[in-house]
Amino acid sequence: MTPPPPAHRVAVVSFEFEGNSLSLRVTRREDFARAGIHTGPAVLAAAAGKDLALTGGIETLRAGGAEVVPIFSAKGGAGGHVADDFFEEAMARILEGVSAALPLDGIYLALHGAMICATEKDPEGAILTALRARIGPDVPMAASLDLHAHVTPRMTDAAEIIIGYETYPHVDAHATGARAAGLLLRRLRGEIRPVTRLRKYNAILPVLGGATLPGAPMAEVAAQARALEEAGRALSVSFFPVQPWLDMADVGITGLAVTDADPEGAEAVAQEILDAMWQRRRDFELPAMTPAEAVQAAMARPGRVLLVDAPDSIGGGASGDAPALLAAILAHAPDTPAALCIVDPAAAARAFALGLGAEAAFQLGAWQDRRWFQPVPLTARVERLCDGDFVFEGGPAGGTTARLGPTAVLRVGGLQLVVASHAVYVHLDEHYAACGVDTAACKLVSHKGLMNYRKQLGPGVSFIALHGPGGTPLRLQDVAWQHRRRPFWPADDMAAPARLD
Ligand SMILES: [Zn+2]
Repeated sequence: MTPPPPAHRVAVVSFEFEGNSLSLRVTRREDFARAGIHTGPAVLAAAAGKDLALTGGIETLRAGGAEVVPIFSAKGGAGGHVADDFFEEAMARILEGVSAALPLDGIYLALHGAMICATEKDPEGAILTALRARIGPDVPMAASLDLHAHVTPRMTDAAEIIIGYETYPHVDAHATGARAAGLLLRRLRGEIRPVTRLRKYNAILPVLGGATLPGAPMAEVAAQARALEEAGRALSVSFFPVQPWLDMADVGITGLAVTDADPEGAEAVAQEILDAMWQRRRDFELPAMTPAEAVQAAMARPGRVLLVDAPDSIGGGASGDAPALLAAILAHAPDTPAALCIVDPAAAARAFALGLGAEAAFQLGAWQDRRWFQPVPLTARVERLCDGDFVFEGGPAGGTTARLGPTAVLRVGGLQLVVASHAVYVHLDEHYAACGVDTAACKLVSHKGLMNYRKQLGPGVSFIALHGPGGTPLRLQDVAWQHRRRPFWPADDMAAPARLD
């Protein structure tokens, strides 16, 4: 009897963060640490049972008989940029961990793809390139990315396999990790020789209109990507409408394909899926109102209304401290049952110092960012104090614990004002429920996100999107870009797209 072949040794790494050049938030080691920074076996324990891409990758590798070698994981949500010292620490830990684990047969990485640091503007490209130098040319690497990744040639040169999420709202992080790991396993068994190529245009699209839900224009792009795969044109086809609030010359919508040893075929398919996005570029705009218009329109509607504060989207990297909607509710619906969450650690600390039941004057919002707003003065009663911990019930971080930090619920007329210490990705209403706020009993509910609110719509629940200034503004053509090259869509109405690859 011949012994079974030794299991393939595959290292797994996860380092996820979405950057935003317009945001003042700096994400440091302590911010990553709140969600957990792990090395070695702790990576596996932290990922077990979650909805993460990393979890999907680990489960698939194990099911395929591979030996999983955990190296590093850290998930930092979204913000402005990552502090250089933490990026350097993470890079060192990843390289040291991989070096100590050699020899390896492959590496799987769960990345976001739109990280930026104070200095390094293509951190994922830097990580993949450094790993390639460390492991040599023959060990395959596979990476899964967010749909909003800023994919660079440095990344596709270093990694044989790159696959992006294909849903927005993001509900397929786990499945994407599984797909990337599945292709890596096929490569390790000698079944395929994957190559990845990208095509990119100088265009950015409004995130709010980028849903892949039935009937939406991006759903047609997603369907075309699946059709190209089913026709056997590529092993995997990804489309990246890109995180648009990155002020860099090489940021643009991207098509990407993985083929079996066919670089020209990959380029052709990447071009087709890129053109599918470009041709629909006028279709991604959604109507939006000023905060005052939105509150008044919501009051005239039946049912509960989700007020989508798009320009202050925490998931897009904004500060979550913009008080424009707060001011509009106080002005136009002061006695209406309403829930609004805002980031203001100084106000939260003041509420804790005052204690439960205290009534006092507060200055709320514009805690970090006063480029567009000033704090709103109000008198409120401290109704509840809580630790701000909760578990995401789904989405790309499903099953993981989020930490708002010390959080106070202030009562102002009909409004329950949740004052958090940290900006945390907004999924559904987990953050309100964690603080005892029942949004089902509210007429108006603020949502500082761009897409997940769609999961809450249904009979008796509608939404209104807001526009205005902020870290994640809707009108991309109005941003004072410093580094984008002209012409670019949507600032310039070009007859033909300008290539960035
Ligand atoms: Zn995304």
